[in-house]
Amino acid sequence: MDRKKVCIVGMGPAGLMAGTILLEQGFEVHFFDHKKAAGRKFLVAGNGGFNLTHSEISETFVEKYNRPYLQAAFQQFDNQEWINWLSKIGIETFVGSSGKIFPVKGIKPIEVLSAWINRIDELGGIFHFSHKLADFNEKEVVFTQKSSNISHFYDFLVLAMGGASWKKTGSTGEWNNILEAKGVDCKPFEASNSGFELKDWSEIAQLQGQTIKNIEVTFNATSKKGDIVISAYGMEGTPIYFVNKEYRKNPQGCFSIDFKPTKTREEIKEVLANAKNITGGLKKLNVSPVSIQLIKLRTSKEEYSSPGILAEIIKGMKFYPSSLRPIDEVISTVGGISMEAITKNFQLKCYDKVFVCGEMLDWDAPTGGYLIQGCVSSGYKAAMSISTFGKG
Ligand SMILES: Cc1cc2nc3c(=O)[nH]c(=O)nc-3n(C[C@H](O)[C@H](O)[C@H](O)COP(=O)(O)OP(=O)(O)OC[C@H]3O[C@@H](n4cnc5c(N)ncnc54)[C@H](O)[C@@H]3O)c2cc1C
Repeated sequence: MDRKKVCIVGMGPAGLMAGTILLEQGFEVHFFDHKKAAGRKFLVAGNGGFNLTHSEISETFVEKYNRPYLQAAFQQFDNQEWINWLSKIGIETFVGSSGKIFPVKGIKPIEVLSAWINRIDELGGIFHFSHKLADFNEKEVVFTQKSSNISHFYDFLVLAMGGASWKKTGSTGEWNNILEAKGVDCKPFEASNSGFELKDWSEIAQLQGQTIKNIEVTFNATSKKGDIVISAYGMEGTPIYFVNKEYRKNPQGCFSIDFKPTKTREEIKEVLANAKNITGGLKKLNVSPVSIQLIKLRTSKEEYSSPGILAEIIKGMKFYPSSLRPIDEVISTVGGISMEAITKNFQLKCYDKVFVCGEMLDWDAPTGGYLIQGCVSSGYKAAMSISTFGKG
């Protein structure tokens, strides 16, 4: 019997996972990308801390996804399954101190990608680079290559073209014109996992490049502990990225920083009141020198010298964002194909042979391994849905 042919468009982690699973299930799989190589953004992710996933337990891991379909996909292919799968292709991982999962020391990001591509090669996957999606219908997908059009008939088509940040990696988001023209509901792209640009920042900018450790950021009812980095325009860091969603809901709002989450206001006030002077009291409380500088720049002399008022400021200094960073610079985007446009099988409602996975769908999750996990889980889910339909 002829093998069913699947065309995968986009060779990021979502498309590579969908295609690998389909090859393992016996499909003929063709991978397409408009770049000359696979996984450019995956490699960029590897330049910083390469968080492949997180070690958090399933019950709380799923809460990091704001969409039930992503939660269900995670339950079908969770962090442990992904870690086991990586191990199968020779990539061992370890849990870092923050619970994030990294490749073991000595394994470079390019080696993770190469092991994956080798696995696809072994399984007989066929790669087509420099192919840009131009159009598709119920049975045919068309690409532009240089200036000519090339079309492929397919039994199933998987779209995995990513979000719209770091365009130089290939994730341009241009595909939304093609999908919108076909009546697929696409939400506008917005920055996620982004730094904040802050109002009245010029004075604080002198502290740029410095890290403030072990603070807690709160925006509305959302809080996150961690470290922040001061930049020329505002702040970056995991707790800042975590509260982005609150800013998108309320762009006029503000967030607060608790510089001493382990102590109550009363405890801080007492230490400050009993110290020789305020700066000595802050040092006794282990408030870092950079935090002290920031606090000094943001308080009047009267506020700084009053233990009660200062304790209150330390527990909740307010900052007013003016915007998120430009989309092209951020770690991930929200927006893209609406979750309303797909079924629980990650199949487009208006094209039943076309499946979608990864960041091109409108879901959100914090950085720290949850993004790549969401991409591979949704890729796995799309592949298993095709496998079920393909056999049926
Ligand atoms: C600086 C940075 C650091 C990050 N760090 C982490 C981290 O540590 N942990 C984590 O979990 N996540 C991290 N991420 C996020 C993670 O890399 C992405 O969420 C993930 O790569 C998205 O995977 P994807 O497969 O959906 O899409 P992508 O990886 O964006 O891949 C999409 C592919 O589709 C191709 N494509 C696009 N349009 C077309 C078209 N029209 N025709 C043909 N091909 C097309 C692109 O060339 C690309 O190869 C980071 C991202 C950045 C930018």
